[in-house]
Amino acid sequence: MKYEDMSLYEYKLPFSLSGFYNVGWIDEPGGYASGRSKELVDKLVEMLLGKDGCKFEFNLLRGPAHACEICGEREVKVKLGDKEHFLGCSELMVPDEKNGVFYVSPSMIIHYMDKHGYLPPKNFCDAVHAVDMARPFDAYETYLDALVKQKTAG
Ligand SMILES: [Zn+2]
Repeated sequence: MKYEDMSLYEYKLPFSLSGFYNVGWIDEPGGYASGRSKELVDKLVEMLLGKDGCKFEFNLLRGPAHACEICGEREVKVKLGDKEHFLGCSELMVPDEKNGVFYVSPSMIIHYMDKHGYLPPKNFCDAVHAVDMARPFDAYETYLDALVKQKTAG
């Protein structure tokens, strides 16, 4: 599934969700800005794994994980300490408090950055750096609230 970076998020929705933007929905090699930041990758892994009261992962798939759209690798995993997590079976929400918006990425974005040198837009990178893991966050709740708000707004 391919979406342009910073297009409005609409995956599996009948409408696009105001204030939520796509980042990292790549479906082929090349055609994206490249650069590397280990710090950014590490932070995203930490966010994906989450902790009590601080969940950035949502929209978990029930079926098998997606393979990497670029190299076809299956069962892509990330590790942090003794924790392991598959990529390609969930989405990651990044709050951008400065701009009052949210970014939504396939969890595979971590692999796209780490292995294929994909560089997300600057606003996304800044927002990831600014995320404070000590503050409570619930991606799924944020998503549901936004859906309800938009629906009741007409
Ligand atoms: Zn790959």
